Amino acid sequence: MTDLPVVVVGAGPIGLAAAAELRERGLTPLVFERGPKAGAAVDQWNHIRLFSRWSEVIDPAARRLLDRTGWTAPDDEAYLTGQEWVREYLTPLADALGDAVQFDTEVVGVARRGRDRVVDAGRDTEPLSVHVRRGDGTEDRVLAQAVVDASGTWGTPNPLGGEGLPALGEQAVSNVIEYRVPDLDDPAVRVQYAGKHTAIAGGGHSALNAIVALAALEKEAPGTRITWILRRGDVASTFGGGEADQLPARGALGLRAKKAVDDGLLHVVTGFRTAAVEPADQDQVALVSDAGQRVEGVDRVVVLTGFRPDLSWLSEIRLGLDPVLQAPTELAPLIDPNVHSCGTVYPHGAKELSHPEPGFYLAGMKSYGRAPTFLAMTGYEQVRSIAAAIAGDHEAAARVELILPETGVCGGAGVFDEPDADADASEGGCCGAPQPELVTLTAPGGAR
Ligand SMILES: Cc1cc2nc3c(=O)[nH]c(=O)nc-3n(C[C@H](O)[C@H](O)[C@H](O)COP(=O)(O)OP(=O)(O)OC[C@H]3O[C@@H](n4cnc5c(N)ncnc54)[C@H](O)[C@@H]3O)c2cc1C
Repeated sequence: MTDLPVVVVGAGPIGLAAAAELRERGLTPLVFERGPKAGAAVDQWNHIRLFSRWSEVIDPAARRLLDRTGWTAPDDEAYLTGQEWVREYLTPLADALGDAVQFDTEVVGVARRGRDRVVDAGRDTEPLSVHVRRGDGTEDRVLAQAVVDASGTWGTPNPLGGEGLPALGEQAVSNVIEYRVPDLDDPAVRVQYAGKHTAIAGGGHSALNAIVALAALEKEAPGTRITWILRRGDVASTFGGGEADQLPARGALGLRAKKAVDDGLLHVVTGFRTAAVEPADQDQVALVSDAGQRVEGVDRVVVLTGFRPDLSWLSEIRLGLDPVLQAPTELAPLIDPNVHSCGTVYPHGAKELSHPEPGFYLAGMKSYGRAPTFLAMTGYEQVRSIAAAIAGDHEAAARVELILPETGVCGGAGVFDEPDADADASEGGCCGAPQPELVTLTAPGGAR
């Protein structure tokens, strides 16, 4: 079985990093990407600037692979847009991986060869069987010694409805709803928002990005209005760690959004759990909360309420998932916004990411399930450890080779009702993670 490839699902930042890490371990990665290019999901938010420095969004093994191709890296201190992340890093990385990356190829199922999930026999001796559908409609079945699912969550945004299901009427008015941060530099998009009333739903970094962009438009286009609706009862914790954030650009984004609120550029409605979207005159809609509050006269709704994993094509393997977050059982307690609301998690790897199904791992954004605050560098450490585990180097798999930055604030998505709980948490204790040991990065064989 060890002659078989390790299939990686998705050629996003974490999938490609997994391929680089696997190759460095002497394994054969085979990446299937449903989109036409590397970073197909990142490419859809190409106008947004990353809050991490360039040096923080590149995987160490990927850098070593790229360095061997004569690649010129951007300035370590630069903050790239999504578009630049794709162009300057993910595309050359996929090129360097060559035939190991297959585009226009969607993974539509994973199973144990010859068995559905009910059969016990052979689960640790038979290979995994990966079902793919290619762009030309053909189907294939590829055997793998292990599978790393790094397919992200971008394709499955959360709905507007406060209960996690679409609000009543949400689907019927989908023409006025956008589930991404609008690119207001695109004239065709800008005209949809200029002089209009937009409701922004959500309290994460994407919502802050949308607030900053629309507040700038409001200053230029008369009649532009913004209403920011939040489930949580308090707006203060939404702005993040500000100057206490160890990622300064992330902190600065929160401060800019706060300034827009302080300057009165938007109307903030807290404690609003959307139950229904009602059509109104002139192609407008009204948002109705479960308590009967109404936000009237809305032209556009920008829903930025997070993402959830698509588990539909993993029905035939045995996953160990937390019932709350849909994240691997051992990882979930580290990232649960209900109890561990700081935007930090200690680095983790193969142990926390494994499942009852041998050789199957969730990695990257998808591994966080519904928890927010995933960072690319977390994913790079995940796949370094997973590659080591698949290669049989359990000592390296268990080692921690990264210290993650803190947000400097507590108050995750699970704490939306309890501002006092947020305040307590921000005084310190809730992120009581063990101090990881920082070790020098070394490659197998000492090449790092
Ligand atoms: C707007 C935004 C800004 C962010 N900024 C930062 C930042 O500054 N710093 C930071 O550290 N993190 C940031 N993140 C978080 C995170 O690092 C990124 O979301 C990152 O892209 C996650 O990488 P990923 O590889 O796990 O998933 P993705 O980038 O989503 O890649 C998954 C890939 O899998 C493909 N795919 C999906 N399903 C299938 C399938 N069934 N078969 C084959 N292919 C499939 C997709 O097409 C996609 O190419 C940001 C996220 C967002 C949304």
